Amino acid sequence: MKKFCLTILLMLCALAFGQACAQALPPKAAPTVPVAVSTLAPPANSTFNAQQATKAYLAEVSPAERAKAAAFASGNHWLMLADALAGLAIAALLLFTRLSARMRDLATRLTRSPSLQSAIYALEFLAIVTILTFPLSFYEDFVRRHAYGISNLSLNQWLGEFALSSGLGLVGGVIFITVVYGLIRATPRFWWAWSTVIAVCFLAFVTLIGPVYILPLFNTSVPLKPGPLRSAIVQLADANGVPSDRIFVVNTSKQSDLLNANVSGLFGTTRISLDDTLLKRCTTREIIAVVAHEMGHYVLDHSLMILPWLGLILLIGFGFVAVSYGGLVRLLGRLWDLREIVDPAGLPLLYALFLVYMLLATPALNTLSRTIEAQADIFGLNAARQPDAFAKFFLLDAGVDDLTPSPLEEFLFWNHPSAAQRIAVAMRWKAAHIHDPDIANGPASP
Ligand SMILES: [Zn+2]
Repeated sequence: MKKFCLTILLMLCALAFGQACAQALPPKAAPTVPVAVSTLAPPANSTFNAQQATKAYLAEVSPAERAKAAAFASGNHWLMLADALAGLAIAALLLFTRLSARMRDLATRLTRSPSLQSAIYALEFLAIVTILTFPLSFYEDFVRRHAYGISNLSLNQWLGEFALSSGLGLVGGVIFITVVYGLIRATPRFWWAWSTVIAVCFLAFVTLIGPVYILPLFNTSVPLKPGPLRSAIVQLADANGVPSDRIFVVNTSKQSDLLNANVSGLFGTTRISLDDTLLKRCTTREIIAVVAHEMGHYVLDHSLMILPWLGLILLIGFGFVAVSYGGLVRLLGRLWDLREIVDPAGLPLLYALFLVYMLLATPALNTLSRTIEAQADIFGLNAARQPDAFAKFFLLDAGVDDLTPSPLEEFLFWNHPSAAQRIAVAMRWKAAHIHDPDIANGPASP
């Protein structure tokens, strides 16, 4: 699923935010330097020491586990670079061997329709990228995740999911690339602006249909059984204006034991989804705390509000690609047997330029994501009033999440606030509410 989203995003804007929980941002909260909550002064008149409680929570994770998680996280960052370098190497191979020009010639021989030619070329190109990056995908998603104990997929299951997500990525990618080349032919001077509009619509469409039409291809959902948990979620939803008639449990334990939930959809498709791992590994308080966070994304309209910001990042990206393409083709076009921008044989060059841009734009995308995540955290704390359950939740997957990255690492690579930041926010919230009866008499902090 991640790979599918990544392909779609990279191919146009191809992007990502690891998918599951990427959402939005009200206009006033533009990307900004993250607030170092751990250094904020404690709330006045509080008898509760938020900093001490934060430290005590973090100390519950053993040094060995923290070292393992830090190694996993830093490995992820190097692999992000490796993925980009692999993409650039493939583009260079296709261009310098003139294989790209031969692929275009094949498409031209097969049909006279420019649209079909670009579609055939896109199919050839995406198939080559998928095949050549297969070893890297296999290592990252299967070998490495098993080594860190975060994959439950057998080899056959993994291959099945890889084939399915690659197939979806191929279909989505061919459609998008064909549309972009249509725009290039129709409006050669402004194709980059129109492509941004199409990319944003495409992303919105995938976000909208994803939970209803794509998720069932990978997982099965069943309605959450009536009981205390369901009643608590319905009460929380009703109190916050979230539709409560569709609450599902998704069998994500098939893929891994990691924990997640989401509230997704629009116009009557809105659903609250819980990973079945939550029911196996979490207390009711912890589930309520995390579902309240997800409701925050819905109530604050994050999935719509983020689109203009993504559009801005993509607009700059397509503009960069359009300008750089012209310059590079003037310089090396003869060597590559490339013609003007309408030539589909130039796709590897567009792809390479976009890869470079997206790598450079990663901190901006991550800051966008972290900002809305911090908003949803505050919403969730206010709605569920479970600061300790919220804090404990972030320790449950501590084995694969560096709890305390440096501020620079967090700025560059973290698409959610770090666990240390989120626990600190929860404990500050608790300090500010320590005189409220439910908090004063609620669960104790360590
Ligand atoms: Zn979130």
